[in-house]
Amino acid sequence: MTRTGLVLLAAAFLLSTPFISADAESEPQIRHHKIAKGFHVLYGGNGLGASVGVIETSDSLVLVDAMRDRTTAKLAAALQEISDKPVSHVFNTHRHEDHTSGNSAFVEQGAILVRQANGPGAGEGRQIRFEKKVILNVGGVRFEAYSVQSHTPEDALIRVPAANVIFLGDTFTTNWHPTFYSGGEAGQLAVVERVLALADDKTVIVPGHGNVTNRQGVIVYRDAFRDWMDRMRELASAGWTADQMAADVELKSISKRFLQDGSRDEMRPAGYRRFIKRTISTELTTANESVLPHLGEYVGTYRYADGMLLRVELAEGGLTIFEGGQLSGHVIPLSKDKFHFPGRLEGEGHLTFQFDGGGNVTGATYVGEDQSWPAARVRD
Ligand SMILES: [Zn+2]
Repeated sequence: MTRTGLVLLAAAFLLSTPFISADAESEPQIRHHKIAKGFHVLYGGNGLGASVGVIETSDSLVLVDAMRDRTTAKLAAALQEISDKPVSHVFNTHRHEDHTSGNSAFVEQGAILVRQANGPGAGEGRQIRFEKKVILNVGGVRFEAYSVQSHTPEDALIRVPAANVIFLGDTFTTNWHPTFYSGGEAGQLAVVERVLALADDKTVIVPGHGNVTNRQGVIVYRDAFRDWMDRMRELASAGWTADQMAADVELKSISKRFLQDGSRDEMRPAGYRRFIKRTISTELTTANESVLPHLGEYVGTYRYADGMLLRVELAEGGLTIFEGGQLSGHVIPLSKDKFHFPGRLEGEGHLTFQFDGGGNVTGATYVGEDQSWPAARVRD
């Protein structure tokens, strides 16, 4: 686990908590939806994890995501009802635990993981890792996976033309608000436009959470998202606080349009306020203009006490951070020494930089909620 990557797991938790049942007595069950011959969706929720897509090929089952490790026995039983063919491949839509911690049981039985290359776990088990896209033929069925970036740096859209289905992971939901904290507004809109270009009127659209929908559902989501961003920008530029925004009737009414599948009428107040704060953090926090001409001075390699390297590279409007060779994210300057990770809330980590008497950058510190990790600059 890298330090600056910690919040990616936290974000998974935030997305999954609303689905934990308040009633601990009733044991949650996977809900099985047969969409067509050889094409099923197994709904998780209630703490079980995200939805799983199941495609039957001539000699195997192919999964899109694998729920949680603690759900594995239930998932295996649900698959057994579909077919006794083995699972040959598991596509992961992104790294979050509610989608991937169930991978290992299938990998141990010989399944191949297919995931975007920015995801973790390189070298674990048998894997196909792709940069932009990969096309696989499994038992006579064609699978296409495309790299996008909205919810995480390694989102994948999985398309199966024969079943006319597109799996979107958490770049799209029908029972929750957008969680576009990695790709920002542009990344979110790029995903929906990509899907609209790939889908026809009969395409089944499978979100990471919530019931399946169709192309029209993606249009409803896109239009609500645009309206959400417009209203948020309007309120932010008028100087409203997050609490004032939470009380805005127009914003609230836009938010309800994301809840398309009818399973809830509105978001819980705490979740709704967090969505507002994350929108501000992701897209409405502005870089300190006076620092932008000096970004090149921060570029370089830094070493934590345990030897792990932090690499800082120049990016448009900010800096890109890599830890241990893995992409952690983008940071924008709030001041000369404090940089913000868009999408993260106060307490979820930021970067500070240290200087010598001559104003040269000598170190970087990752500041977490209750711990900090300093890294000294390495001459390169
Ligand atoms: Zn997620």
